[in-house]
Amino acid sequence: MSIIGFIGLGNMGLPMAMNLKNAGHAVQAFDTVPDALEKVKAEGMEICASAADAAKGADVIVTMLPNGKIVSAVYAQIVPVAKKGAILIDSSTIDVTSAKSAHGVAISAGLHPVDAPVSGGVGGAAAGTLTFMCGGTKDAFDAAKPYLDIMGGKIVHCGDGGAGQAAKICNNMLLSISMIGTCEAFALAEKLGLSKEAAYEVMSTSSGSCWSVNTYCPVPGVGPKTPADNNYKPGFAAELMVKDSSLAQQAAQEVGQATPMGMYAAMLYQHYVANGGKGKDFSGIIEYLISAERGSA
Ligand code: NAD
Repeated sequence: MSIIGFIGLGNMGLPMAMNLKNAGHAVQAFDTVPDALEKVKAEGMEICASAADAAKGADVIVTMLPNGKIVSAVYAQIVPVAKKGAILIDSSTIDVTSAKSAHGVAISAGLHPVDAPVSGGVGGAAAGTLTFMCGGTKDAFDAAKPYLDIMGGKIVHCGDGGAGQAAKICNNMLLSISMIGTCEAFALAEKLGLSKEAAYEVMSTSSGSCWSVNTYCPVPGVGPKTPADNNYKPGFAAELMVKDSSLAQQAAQEVGQATPMGMYAAMLYQHYVANGGKGKDFSGIIEYLISAERGSA
């Protein structure tokens, strides 16, 4: 049994912490929101008065927080009090620069940091089937893996510190582009009088096939069941796609890489969320594209 400090028990963090507890570990938890702590208490986990208290004496410290600024602030509190040799797993989705600086701070204090953002959403967090994309030294990754195995189904070591965040935002930038392309193709097919069934059958088996068409089709009634069949209830919320596609643009700017399609997709997702997409699945952008006048989207 290990002692696990868990900081940030929101939609993702709470079920992840519960899986660690159910695997026999002692979880000491902290969140800034009293409501979140009530839920933690109801699940039989110890609640702490601060992030530092949650970190003290822990073999492993997991953070699942909203953004890089908050992760940096929390690291400033936990790194000085963490046990020498503790494993630090940050599963928040944050910018690559903050992730790398968190690694630097932790390594200087003799700790073993791993950036380990996830894909799989709240369902994957509850089921313990998340995919973890990890960055850090091989030793840190190997030490973190048994704990990641409890919370996840696929654990990938992507490289040095920050590599997990880099993998996550590259994947999600591609997804933002492929989903919009898929939506445009189905919208145009409909205007051209093609049935959605015919469009799906051809595109899912031809050179346009991709995850957005085949597995997560934005059109209801064709392909496997998706949020489109449930009035675009998330799934993967459009707001999170705005976050991830914006992080990709921030990273592209920092390293000077042109990503014109990624830039346009990030902008379209911002427009979608500002115009009816809030609280909807990211594939619901098809409704925005269909309703937009040509030239206005
Ligand atoms: P959330 O907002 O539900 O949870 C974040 C929690 O962190 C909240 O309970 C909040 O009170 C707490 N918090 C904020 N500041 C804090 C601080 N200083 N100290 C302690 N706790 C603090 O968000 P979520 O959906 O659980 O997502 C968490 C992270 O996972 C985000 O980075 C998100 O981008 C990423 N993510 C989410 C999903 C998803 O489907 N929800 C999927 C993949 C990745």
